[in-house]
Amino acid sequence: MAKTKEFQTESKKLLNLMINSIYTHNEIFLRELISNASDAIDKRHHLSLVEEKVPKADNYEIFIIPDKENRTLTIRDNGIGMTEEELTTQLGTIAESGSKAFMEKLEKKDIDIIGQFGVGFYSAFMVASRVFVKTRSPFSDTALLWQSEGESTYSIDETKKEDIGTEITLVLREDDEENEEDYSTFLEEHTIKRLIKKYSDYVRYPIKMEVTKTEPSDKDGEEDKTTKEIETLNSQIPIWKRPKNEIKDEELNDFYKREFNDFDDPLHVIHTSVEGMLTYTALLFIPKKPSQDFYTDKFEKGLTLYSKGVFIQEKNKDLVPEHFRFLRGLVDSADLSLNISREMLQHNRQLKKIASHLEKKVKNELEKMQKNDREKYNEFYDAYRHILKYGVYDQFGANKDKLKDLLMFKTNKSDDYLTLKEYLERKPEEQKHIYYASGKNKDQIMNLPQMDAVKSKDFEVLLFTDEVDEFMVQILAEYDEVSFKSVQQGESDLLDEEEKKKLEESEKDYSKLLKTLKKNLKDKVKDVKLSGRLKESPVCLVSGEGLSLEMEKVLSQMPEGAQMKAEKILEINPDHELFKALKNVHEINPKKVGDYANLLYHQALLIEGYPIENPREMSELMTKLMVESTK
Ligand code: ADP
Repeated sequence: MAKTKEFQTESKKLLNLMINSIYTHNEIFLRELISNASDAIDKRHHLSLVEEKVPKADNYEIFIIPDKENRTLTIRDNGIGMTEEELTTQLGTIAESGSKAFMEKLEKKDIDIIGQFGVGFYSAFMVASRVFVKTRSPFSDTALLWQSEGESTYSIDETKKEDIGTEITLVLREDDEENEEDYSTFLEEHTIKRLIKKYSDYVRYPIKMEVTKTEPSDKDGEEDKTTKEIETLNSQIPIWKRPKNEIKDEELNDFYKREFNDFDDPLHVIHTSVEGMLTYTALLFIPKKPSQDFYTDKFEKGLTLYSKGVFIQEKNKDLVPEHFRFLRGLVDSADLSLNISREMLQHNRQLKKIASHLEKKVKNELEKMQKNDREKYNEFYDAYRHILKYGVYDQFGANKDKLKDLLMFKTNKSDDYLTLKEYLERKPEEQKHIYYASGKNKDQIMNLPQMDAVKSKDFEVLLFTDEVDEFMVQILAEYDEVSFKSVQQGESDLLDEEEKKKLEESEKDYSKLLKTLKKNLKDKVKDVKLSGRLKESPVCLVSGEGLSLEMEKVLSQMPEGAQMKAEKILEINPDHELFKALKNVHEINPKKVGDYANLLYHQALLIEGYPIENPREMSELMTKLMVESTK
């Protein structure tokens, strides 16, 4: 006698949602059913060791049986099976915790969550109009047949089944052309093979299917020979689960290239297993080169997530911090369950812990590489330095302490990268700051007038040639309690007492001239000063504290940054011939000072790599002066 029972209310709601959501990832039902089968085999195996009633099977296996004639797909296992009570409580109920949250997501059509966490047995109804579960438990005298159309009821009946285990048969829904749902594809060998490779390759038990092999006939006119053969569709042992010392580099490289579609071998591999409070294995790769979209918002970071060898999610973002977004690879954790019925927040907490472990691990590996294999680290750094520097700057410097030792810079004295620590180790005692200068490249920086004083002091200056550098340094502010200082910004501190005094006196002596210059340039610069940092060059532009000239250039390329302006200060070299000429002009013909001031300003702009604001005006001024000088 078949007993008809009602699904528990929550389950009903979930079923309805499942059935009615046209869900693009409905293929995951197979992963769910195989994962249940694998768990059931685990259970049988464990129980067989301690319970007399539970016999061991000769071979544990999962069988997939597509039947095109009857439009059914069967998943058979020789796991633990279910008793009547289990059928009722397990398949008639969805466990309490987590399911509510899950349903809320489903209602909001946030269906990506299904891909993230297992939805279990119910997912069968996404592709099936009727589901049969034929099962036999070692704890029950009779085999049972559960069946349901996924509406509000299911029935349980007695049936015949010799072996212990479960056989789940899905009657696939009719194809739905309107919504382009082709359920019959799940009966095709190639679809099944593909799905098992994709989702269940590393399930520990063999997943088998009878496949058709075609052998072309060598005789004309004779039909090709087809034979049936049983094939195992999954490879079962994930490479990351094998003992590390038994895995060849080449195997890891091949695995990386196949899984992550790269032509190159990875630059670096990190394979780590953690056991204890948190148990997981991670296999991480640093690609040799950033992918084409790496520096765009199209790029998606993340690691593949497995739970005990069962694929859960392609790119889990939470496992990788933004500053290590170059990482590819996977995490396999026994602490994560496919089961949505467990507290989902807890999943997240576990993931967060794993993520934080991994971040530390990667940082340590990179520091080790920097120390022991600088050539490789240089290659890494050339490829990914922008992302590290951006990481220092991002979130108001929340991660700067983690990242600062990974940074390196070239300097006016070194074409090899130096770490900040190395820079400080060779810094002379009397040098109070970490100096830096910004520009397009080394040549341009070396020709900056502001470098004059640095050169004469023989100080080492970090070359900031990446756009992000100055933004990063604002946040970094100091390293090992030594502050950063731009040679192009603010007051120069490279003067000794005597030089300072001399400069102050000159400022006084020439205050009238400076005032006139300032008046003439009042729309262009904030101040005109005599310079202490120039030796050979006649003029330079420096910025006040705050926004630097380099930052202004970067910001001007962004729509919202265009209005941000640096404070410009024109500095004139009091020891230069040109200044003497200026003094003379001022004495003889003060009206002319305006022309000179304008030319000086334009000259300074040119040296700084700025476009000339008004080329015509500048050209006319130059012509005028050239003509006059020959009169
Ligand atoms: P779970 O994530 O817990 O597996 P499911 O909804 O997929 O959630 O399954 C509910 C329960 O039904 C399982 O925990 C298990 O006890 C039982 N079950 C499902 N499939 C099988 C199977 N093939 N063999 C034995 N028990 C099963």
